[in-house]
Amino acid sequence: MAKVIIIGAGGVGSVVAHKCAQLPEVFSDITLASRTVSKCEAIAASVLEKTGTQIKTAQIDADDVPALSDYLAAQKPFMVINVALPYQDLTIMDACLATGVHYLDTANYEPLDTAKFEYHWQWAYQDKFEQAGLTALLGSGFDPGATNVFTTYLKKHFFDTIESLDIIDVNGGNHGYAFATNFNPEINIREITADCRHYEDGEVVTTPAMSESREFTCPEGVGTYNIYRLYHEELESLNKNFPELKKLQFWMSFGDSYLKHLEVLQNVGMTGIEPVEFQGQQIVPIQFLAKLLPDPSTLGPRTKGKTCIGCLVKGTKDGAPKTYYCYQICDHEACFEEVGSQAISYTTGVPAMIGAKMLIEKQWLKPGVFNMEQNNPDPFMADMNQYGLPWQVIELDADFSLES
Ligand code: NDP
Repeated sequence: MAKVIIIGAGGVGSVVAHKCAQLPEVFSDITLASRTVSKCEAIAASVLEKTGTQIKTAQIDADDVPALSDYLAAQKPFMVINVALPYQDLTIMDACLATGVHYLDTANYEPLDTAKFEYHWQWAYQDKFEQAGLTALLGSGFDPGATNVFTTYLKKHFFDTIESLDIIDVNGGNHGYAFATNFNPEINIREITADCRHYEDGEVVTTPAMSESREFTCPEGVGTYNIYRLYHEELESLNKNFPELKKLQFWMSFGDSYLKHLEVLQNVGMTGIEPVEFQGQQIVPIQFLAKLLPDPSTLGPRTKGKTCIGCLVKGTKDGAPKTYYCYQICDHEACFEEVGSQAISYTTGVPAMIGAKMLIEKQWLKPGVFNMEQNNPDPFMADMNQYGLPWQVIELDADFSLES
């Protein structure tokens, strides 16, 4: 039984609030706090209607460390589930340290003025969290999150050594808009337009954004999609924690309409992160663009189709080459029916709830800053099956490769 404070009332925050409220025996006291309190109140009303649980709401600016620290000191929660934006990670970690509160997030820190997701800012908190006897669990969404746990699970149960990892994120959903992002538009577009980085023999290899693509057929009839290689933050921690991996890549599916719009927006400068002066005002193009695009939390009722996200791992077992694929398929409409959100928010929010449950139940509670793959994968995988994200492991031909 634990008191938790969820910070961030967007698409993901809404799913976390609904899923935590479904488990009152674990999450006995839930507060949803965010910058715009009316969004928290609307989510709280939905949570009450769907689960019968009354959650509390609060207005908080997570960029303001003293105010957030005062709030946490007064509330004394067991932990904060941070599903605000990556820009808030360090301020929330500071406030947690100041008040003796455990911490969890779903995306690594990124400074507002540099589009570069990297873990070193948060890994630098290792000694502080260890000395304070507190846990910080980083990247407990789907990717990062479930994908890190899938990798550890495959290594633990199917391989002696692993040699290559391809994380494949397919969204076969259709929301009917010519261009919209499935989670925060600013974060999403910064991620996709950044240079691609992958790892080979421990080294970072940089290539132009979206310059490599493959065709990939998902299992269970989800379909065949064009997937594009891009940089994703879990590659950095997985490369560090699995030094035996010779090659790590991340792939994501995009439709033709999305790519066409993105290319034009990039060409005209609308994805820029540097402020420009317009009619006497400083405007950041990508922030203005985000304002024009559909709010991802409103895509739920319009989105049909499925996501299929998984890890393709090659390695050896008992001296023989092996290839296994661990994946999870999620139906957008079923997610909307359950919690009022599409599958991208759902597949992020459920692992955030499960990660919090791992800390509350002391399965993963240990002092320091941890990525997901540094924990025993088994209880997390069991909970994914139980709480809405059932997964499969299949063996593929040993010589199956995305390279072919
Ligand atoms: P949204 O933009 O929908 O929601 C973000 C929320 O954070 C909003 O309610 C916003 O408030 C709030 N917020 C922003 N700044 C502050 C602040 N200073 N203080 C308090 N609250 C603040 O984002 P999503 O729900 O789509 O995504 C949430 C997080 O999940 C992001 O970090 C994203 O990168 C991550 N994510 C992770 C994935 C994974 O698989 N690991 C996948 C998808 C997303 P306001 O309403 O006032 O703007």
